[in-house]
Amino acid sequence: MSSAHPASFPFPGAPRHPLPPPPPPTYRTPPRLSPTVPYNRYGAAFRSHLCGRVNLTDVDAQRSISVCGWLHKKRMDHRFWLLRDWSGTLQVTLDDRQRTEWAAWLGEVALESVLRVSGVPQRRPPGQANPRMATGQLELRVEQMQVLNPAAARLPFTCAQWEAAEVGEPVRMQYRYLDLRRAVMQRNLRLRSWLLQRMRRFLHDHAGFVDVDTPYLFRATPGGAQEFPVASQLPGKFYSLAQSPQQFKQLLMVAGVDRYFQVARCFRDESNNPEKQPEFTQLDVEMSFVGMEDVLALVEDLLRFSWPAPEILAEAANFPWTDRDALPPPAFPFPRMSYKDAMTSYGTDKPDTRFAWHIRDITPWARDYRLFGNTPLHPGSTVRAFVAPGAAPLCKKAFKDALDTLVKREYPGVLLSFLTLKPDGSLSRAALPREAAAQLHSLVGGIQGEDLVVVCGGPEERCLKALGRLRLETADYVEKNGKSVREDAFKFLWVVDFPLFARAEEGSGWETVHHPFTAPHPEDAHLLQAGGDLSRIRGQHYDLVLNGAEVAGGSIRLERAAEQRHVLQLLQINPADVGHLLAGLDSGCPPHGGIALGLDRLVCLLARAKSIRDVIAFPKTAQGRDLMAEAPCSLPGKTLQLYHLAVTANTAPDRSHDGG
Ligand code: ASP
Repeated sequence: MSSAHPASFPFPGAPRHPLPPPPPPTYRTPPRLSPTVPYNRYGAAFRSHLCGRVNLTDVDAQRSISVCGWLHKKRMDHRFWLLRDWSGTLQVTLDDRQRTEWAAWLGEVALESVLRVSGVPQRRPPGQANPRMATGQLELRVEQMQVLNPAAARLPFTCAQWEAAEVGEPVRMQYRYLDLRRAVMQRNLRLRSWLLQRMRRFLHDHAGFVDVDTPYLFRATPGGAQEFPVASQLPGKFYSLAQSPQQFKQLLMVAGVDRYFQVARCFRDESNNPEKQPEFTQLDVEMSFVGMEDVLALVEDLLRFSWPAPEILAEAANFPWTDRDALPPPAFPFPRMSYKDAMTSYGTDKPDTRFAWHIRDITPWARDYRLFGNTPLHPGSTVRAFVAPGAAPLCKKAFKDALDTLVKREYPGVLLSFLTLKPDGSLSRAALPREAAAQLHSLVGGIQGEDLVVVCGGPEERCLKALGRLRLETADYVEKNGKSVREDAFKFLWVVDFPLFARAEEGSGWETVHHPFTAPHPEDAHLLQAGGDLSRIRGQHYDLVLNGAEVAGGSIRLERAAEQRHVLQLLQINPADVGHLLAGLDSGCPPHGGIALGLDRLVCLLARAKSIRDVIAFPKTAQGRDLMAEAPCSLPGKTLQLYHLAVTANTAPDRSHDGG
């Protein structure tokens, strides 16, 4: 079969761009995270100001203002109430006459009730300013106060209680509307919205992309994630929720759309990873007449344009009650690493490059010594190691035992050992002679007194993966014990030159590393022919990694139907399942490629949130449940009948919780 472009470019060696591409344009200063919109313009009947935005200029103006918000706290026998909206809190003060006259109902108004308060802002008396509050120098002397809507007396939790003690995640998810009132959650949602608007603006206004919606109700797709089936009224026929708009975006290229994007919801029934959501959001992109370099350049320009400027991040960091420092923007262009180098040096295809701790090959050295006690290494085994600087005093026996159990459980056949330097310069394992330390020192790039050397031996791939995991586990543990390991920065990395195929986990066949529509690397395309070594074929697949997490992935696609059909056959996928795509490719399909950015993960890292659930308004539990609305739920018999469904398993009663 013929190879995909750019090898099929008719003039080998011709520059990819006959004219150099123009430099990225410069853009206007971005707006604030929470721009100063006139809140009184579309709500003057209720309010003139936001609670957190009243300032000393308003004090100087000595005019009456109105604010609306939730009753956050009552203090000192109703002398001070705190009113809160998304922008912050404002202290409102009641005088003695008001406290006496209104005593009955002041006591009744429950926290989190919605109030409207009018009054004149005043400077707080000397010594009473609160430096932790943006409005801490002033207060609003109440003239009028109105309960717009009282809250129930005992809510599951209030924002003020949260400040004192964190509330468990299942309760937060069950009462998400209360949880979202918290400043951190407001900040996360606003940062997400800000970023998305910037991305849309870049793609649409500056790069000629067309925003196209594609269906969520699709047909089952071969060779990918487990999909959610959706019943239809046609007996025995099901839709599947689209796991991504992949086929549609390729068909949009066939259709001549040229540059497509969509903020797309994707659905995958993969409940084994608590940090994944069954529905998640991608910024999905596809472009015609491009190669890998073009897609990578586009993503870098997109992120450069939409990355919050330091003042935006500082604003986010200073959002009421958030305490994270703003980090400087990432360095562009992003470095690149081949899949092979990533696996060899970091034991993973998503290296966390905020710290070094590189994995080194010490096989020739290790052969001479018994590093793993009496357990012999199988012939052909490899021995690799990384050095965790300064970790030895922190990593006590219990931690090492836990790592040992982890390796035995998840990386069978891999042996683990720990080495440290003794004060006399020899290595900790008794059987190792003194000169062994010096040899190891040069092999691993230096060992100091308090360093811990983590060593694994076994089959190469598993050994590297085990060390990749141990590297992260050890770094986490060392950091938990008070010693910083990772640089506090946004570290992006492109990982390229992935293998196109991997041995299937079950059976003797092959599966794709990305998805079945990825084109082979032009230099390796000939290996697709009968007898070629499929394991040696690199795909035109690229991933973007940020701080050890995959934040984007994409590829240049197979644009010819014959090539696509051939790959499907190698993967034992029935071409009829994607007959519509094959017909499209055969109808004059331009060379094309694209990428999808995982927005939840990206925003999570940007907001420095603990979990992606903290940047999703209404997330699901690890078991895929919506604890607030209690989905999934059972259906009435009539509905089951309409959709020709019969439930055969016993179901748990509705309105039961899985505890997160
Ligand atoms: N559809 C792919 C994914 O969801 C991304 C791509 O290849 O553009 O991972």
